Amino acid sequence: MKIFFSAWLLFLLADNHAVAQAPESLNASQILVQMKKLNVLGSVLYIAAHPDDENTRLLAWLSNEKLYRTGYLSLTRGDGGQNLLGDEQGVELGLIRTQELLAARRIDGAEQFFSRAFDFGFSKTTEESLRFWDKQKILSDVVWVIRKFQPDVIITRFPEDKRAGHGQHSASSVLAHLAFSAASDPKQFPEQFKYGVGPWQAKRLLWNNYNFGDVNTTREDQLKIEVGGFNPILGKSYGEVAADSRSQHRSQGFGVARSYGHALEYFSLTAGKEADKTLMDDVDYSWKRLPGGAAIEALVNGLIKNYDPADPSKSLQELILVYDRIAALPDGYWKKKKRAEVQDLMESCSGLWIEATVHQAYAVKDQQVMVGLQIINRSAADITLDGVTINQTDTAWKQKLEPEENYRVSLRVPLTGLPITQPYWLKEPMSSGSYNVDDQTLIGDPQNRPALVAAFRISILGRPFVIQKPVIYDFTQPAKGESFEPFIIIPQTIASANPQILVFSGKAEKKLEVNSQLKVADGQKEMPSGGSLPESAGPLRLTPSPGFKISADLSAAGNPDHYFRIVSEDGNQKPEWVWAVQTSGNRTDTLLQCRTISYEHIPRIDYFKPVGAKLVSTDLQISGSTIGYVEGAGDKVPDALREMGYTVTILNENNLSGAVLQPLDAVITGVRAYDVHDWLFGKYRVLMDYVKNGGNLIVQYNRNNSENARTRIGPYPFSISNARVTEEDAAVNFVHPENPVLHEPNRITDMDFEGWIQERGIYFATHADPQYQEIFSMHDAGEQDQKGSLITAKYGKGNFTYIGLVFFRELPAGVPGAYRLLANLIALNQHQHK
Ligand SMILES: [Zn+2]
Repeated sequence: MKIFFSAWLLFLLADNHAVAQAPESLNASQILVQMKKLNVLGSVLYIAAHPDDENTRLLAWLSNEKLYRTGYLSLTRGDGGQNLLGDEQGVELGLIRTQELLAARRIDGAEQFFSRAFDFGFSKTTEESLRFWDKQKILSDVVWVIRKFQPDVIITRFPEDKRAGHGQHSASSVLAHLAFSAASDPKQFPEQFKYGVGPWQAKRLLWNNYNFGDVNTTREDQLKIEVGGFNPILGKSYGEVAADSRSQHRSQGFGVARSYGHALEYFSLTAGKEADKTLMDDVDYSWKRLPGGAAIEALVNGLIKNYDPADPSKSLQELILVYDRIAALPDGYWKKKKRAEVQDLMESCSGLWIEATVHQAYAVKDQQVMVGLQIINRSAADITLDGVTINQTDTAWKQKLEPEENYRVSLRVPLTGLPITQPYWLKEPMSSGSYNVDDQTLIGDPQNRPALVAAFRISILGRPFVIQKPVIYDFTQPAKGESFEPFIIIPQTIASANPQILVFSGKAEKKLEVNSQLKVADGQKEMPSGGSLPESAGPLRLTPSPGFKISADLSAAGNPDHYFRIVSEDGNQKPEWVWAVQTSGNRTDTLLQCRTISYEHIPRIDYFKPVGAKLVSTDLQISGSTIGYVEGAGDKVPDALREMGYTVTILNENNLSGAVLQPLDAVITGVRAYDVHDWLFGKYRVLMDYVKNGGNLIVQYNRNNSENARTRIGPYPFSISNARVTEEDAAVNFVHPENPVLHEPNRITDMDFEGWIQERGIYFATHADPQYQEIFSMHDAGEQDQKGSLITAKYGKGNFTYIGLVFFRELPAGVPGAYRLLANLIALNQHQHK
């Protein structure tokens, strides 16, 4: 018996469980669908580059109409996209979009996979994308996912050429094509075989052609499949499911309307065997594909025929029969899958409600947590509980489960040996274009396996099963009712540094404070606030950084260990990091901070990052001191402004008035402020009067290209275009070298455009009124010169500037030139009256 359990445990742990979703029971029609799915042994894998590239309607149709095992491999987590929700960028945006994609999959029923590729921003060529990603590394990931998923058919979203519109798009299809044959070649990536996969040859690789209006890649004589239509069991058309799924990408603002009725999808062959009528031509996706499987199909048909939606538990006996027949088959991919599906059906048909919950979102590593276990048999079937195991803690809880009787037990579980809950792709330092993961078996997974799992040993009609439930945080809010969030394990010490970026000019000294707290949490909902560090802990210190002198700040009130004085010793240089570390005995740990990201449409996200600060040494002069900032879609520019030495007042609809603006040296609008605040257009006159009377308005990029945007942002008309320069090292030419923007108080040179990240700029101005001066011109390789990255004009006694240059990326990254150029923009109205 023991061997049986542990084999199950291993198998189930290898499966992906959704973390922290409200536990749900299937209704009678969903159970019927799952029964029908038992007879379908076919699978389709869709491959593209980003969250939101995938064709959700096709995925919904494949998964719910054809009942194929359906997966979407998004090579990246969309880290380089825009963020319409807040100020998270890069890795953090990737974390958000991972959860948005999982929310989409819960609606359309497909599974989600990722490679280690990092979305480094817009790319114009396949070659650039493959170079950044490390072609062989990401190819190995695609091969790995194919070998694990064993798709019969692989579908790409994009062509392999320029028509894909984005280098990462074409690269995703190039890699899919290479992986289609590499996956079946035993000589390619043979190191994967020791993890239980083998070579796999899919039948065909198709490109899902599209007609996006401006680009039509479809032809009427190619393979076409009708994927519209209504699914009575879901009560929805596939166009509706697709829209609901796609609308989960809220960070991208991709909400779409539902569609109904006919919808055709077009396919062309990239590799493998031609298909004439269906995607699955020449694929046997019935039980006959398994030796000895044919008889099971008849059993499943009987199961479906005898199914009584009024009492699904009547199906249990037949399910056990199916289960045993599958168990007798030789080991293999479909045997594993189908056995798990039958077990899930048994759980559903018996109306079992099983949960393992905690009343705290966080627990501290190696400490303990109280777990509430609850189990109810909501049928007349004969079911017993034989025990529960959580992190090697066993309960002797044995119980015959009487119908509708609610059994509860609370169990104190030591978390000994369990790691902190860090997203697996963030455990190792990343490379510039890809994540590093040292555990091959995790690659492809959309997210971590749950921090803690409860294994319930159950007998249904005398037959033993192990049912795994993730331990989740369960809480009730008066306004929303019962809610579920992830339960995570945090380090014993959580710290933070303030500020996180220090800008040095000359020999001026800056101060840095590191807060560190020992966590002693038990039963707390919020991130626990801690006691003080134990006596045994050694002193906290900062790692040395070339060019900077770091010493303890003995003048600070409080623990001198936590306050540092930093002086730049040799002026201009590249940004440097310092990290906070603590030594206990002969061990030195980098202190960690916890970042929590919380949005309504996705589960709470927590991750840990080393505590440190970026030191930027540059020759930075500022003039002016007071700035009004209108926050847009979210950016970290105000923090940077404060670090530069300005006083920042946040402006909003209520306080943005002539009287408040009048004393300000500059007003800056956050990224996409005009996109997210319609009221800003209503303040046009107030802002223009401020400029006319000697003020200085600086507008960071917006996407809005309406007539309103053309005439009600600046004093003279200009339009906002899609033009961008994505090469962060593109040469910058000074079109108007005499303009004060380039001289006062900082003399701007080519040096100021060194070390930029991701891109130069986006949403450049175009068709600008001749009153504007276009200060720079720049372009990506092989493209026309773009002049709208920074346009500026005098208006009355003041100045107006529109910038497509991505200060919101470069300032937090500590790029010295971005600080110096922004200081000059702010200074525009300072020197002209002198
Ligand atoms: Zn994309």
